[in-house]
Formats: sequence, structure tokens, C-alpha cells
Amino acid sequence: MKRGPWLPGLVGLCRSCSALLAGLTALALDPALPRAWAQVDMGPGAYAMSTPLVLNIIGAEQWGSEPPPQAAYRSREHGVITGLTVHHQGETWQAGADVAAYLRRLQQWSRRERAWVDVPYHYIVSPEGQVYAGRGLQWAGDSNTDYDTAGQVQVMLLGNFEHQQPSAAQLQATAQLLGQLMAVYGLAPQHIVGHRHHSNQTVCPGAHLMSVFEDLRAQATAMRATLVPR
Ligand SMILES: [Zn+2]
Repeated sequence: MKRGPWLPGLVGLCRSCSALLAGLTALALDPALPRAWAQVDMGPGAYAMSTPLVLNIIGAEQWGSEPPPQAAYRSREHGVITGLTVHHQGETWQAGADVAAYLRRLQQWSRRERAWVDVPYHYIVSPEGQVYAGRGLQWAGDSNTDYDTAGQVQVMLLGNFEHQQPSAAQLQATAQLLGQLMAVYGLAPQHIVGHRHHSNQTVCPGAHLMSVFEDLRAQATAMRATLVPR
């Protein structure tokens, strides 16, 4: 298996995990957008912020995402969204590193080594507080641990929070994103969980993020309250 110098850290994301894809049912990739797409669209038409803090998400095409070759990868439709799962990257993030380049490498690795349809996460949040779109929301996420990712929007924060601290900007953007997702999917604070909630095979999203997790839930809930349906 070819691994670039960045890969050991990436694998560290779920180094303690096994049972890769064990719980997944492989389905052919349907080139047509699935039914769930319309209901998971969180575009600006659905909600407006009553504060000026409109969440700006960098689209996947902006970081150089390549569309998946159709029918080439195993994947599953999401179905109904029932929760928001928070992850950390699991490798130390160097300040100022190129997020777009990292995401392109992650996408290539996910497809080449895992036969995943895309990066395993739906959103990625940088220490600068920038949110990047990852895998399309029509697809369930992927994980190296044996929990069912269907129905979970996967949000990943760059960094290793066993060793690093999430930045204030990163936490604020994450709360904003989670609050927006709560509003779109009608979710409550308890529906926001860390990866370790689903699996004892991992410490993700790291001790330093777990120590502020209740604050993150509270901030997301407060952010949700600022959203008003159009
Ligand atoms: Zn995780």
C-alpha cells in the first residue's frame, strides 16, 4: 500500500480501530441524485441568520475535489438525518498548513486505499474557523470503526485534540455549523455527539475537545436559536 509521508498521521485518526467497513453494506453508486438530496440541502434558501454571522462554507469544488467516477465506489445513501457526529483529524495540524491540499490528499487516499466514495466527513473545520464542504450530504459517511454512519452528518475539526487545543475560532465555526445543521434537520443538543460516543475503539474527537463538548452543544443550540425559517 503506497503511503505518502502524511499518511501515518492520517491513519492515526483511527489507528486504534479495526473492522474496516465491517458494518457497511455495499451498494452500487447511483449516478442520479438520491431522494434524500432535496431534504438535506442546507443552502441559503432554507434558513436565514438573524445575526450577521452568516456561515461561509468553502465548496468542495473550491478545494479541488474531484467528482467520484460513477459506480466505482461502495457507498450508501444517508436516509433520514438523525444526528451530528464530531471528529478530530487525529493528526497534529501545523499552523498555516494548506487545508485544500490536505483535503485533496485525503480524498485520493480515501478512494485509492479504502474504496470510499469520497473523504469520510461531510464538513471539515480549520483552526482559522473556516468550514469546508467534504463528502456530499446525500451519502452516509465512512469510518474505520464499527459504528453505523447512516443518518449521521460527520463534522471533523483539523488537529489532534489529544495533544492540541481546538482554537476559539474553530470552536465558534463548529458551533455555528452544528447550530445550522440542528435547525435544518430538527435536531436537539443531545443529538450532537463525539465519535467515541458511537465506538469504544477510538478516543476521537480527543480529550481537549471532549472537555468543552457541553459548551459546544450549548453554543450550537444558541446559534440554532438565531436561525429563522424563511
Ligand atoms: Zn472520529
